[in-house]
Amino acid sequence: MKIVLASNNAGKLAELQTLLAPLGMTLERQSELNIPEAAEPFKTFVENALAKARHAAQLSGMPALADDAGLCVDAFGGQPGVDTAYYATRFGYPKGDDTNVTALLEQMQGITNRRAAMVSTLVAVRSAHDPEPLIAVGRVVVQITPERRGTNGFGFDPVMYLPEFGKTFAELPPEVKNAHSHRGRAAQAMLTLMRERWLDSAAP
Ligand code: IMP
Repeated sequence: MKIVLASNNAGKLAELQTLLAPLGMTLERQSELNIPEAAEPFKTFVENALAKARHAAQLSGMPALADDAGLCVDAFGGQPGVDTAYYATRFGYPKGDDTNVTALLEQMQGITNRRAAMVSTLVAVRSAHDPEPLIAVGRVVVQITPERRGTNGFGFDPVMYLPEFGKTFAELPPEVKNAHSHRGRAAQAMLTLMRERWLDSAAP
């Protein structure tokens, strides 16, 4: 089955493609189908992911999968949340992964509670008007390091420290990150939902 991925992020495509390969599903980025990015006006991950999945399904005529992810920092009352991608711009930096990390490290200077959760919500629809979207949530609790460590991954990976491994995501191999990341957990749950609800129901 071919599914449109409602994201143009190459890192996410690679991670999700690996995770969904056991179901024989192939992901195609929406940019390859000339589909523009959808607006994300909502305050929750699930609403934004659903809006993105619907938009991609509408314009492609294919099933679609969308992910909305963000960092919820305890010391900031769960912010930046859905606004994570633009976090750096609040402090006068241009939008970007590296500036985001710089802004976060600056804002957390002197803060002892370094606990944060990276949250991923995956939503899949069979069509734009699918009344029963599949919704899978995954989260991973980390400690924000005071400085960058490691070069793998993307986004906040260099400052996301996992006490159980004694390493940041950026210091871990991709297969270990996939198995333990917020998106890895959400994708495992989505895998189960797709198998039960989309594939089993298609069997004779
Ligand atoms: P979005 O889902 O593309 O909107 O991502 C929201 C923000 O979270 C962006 O700033 C990403 O860089 C960051 N982010 C998403 N997934 C990951 C991840 O796996 N590791 C680190 N940062 C991530």
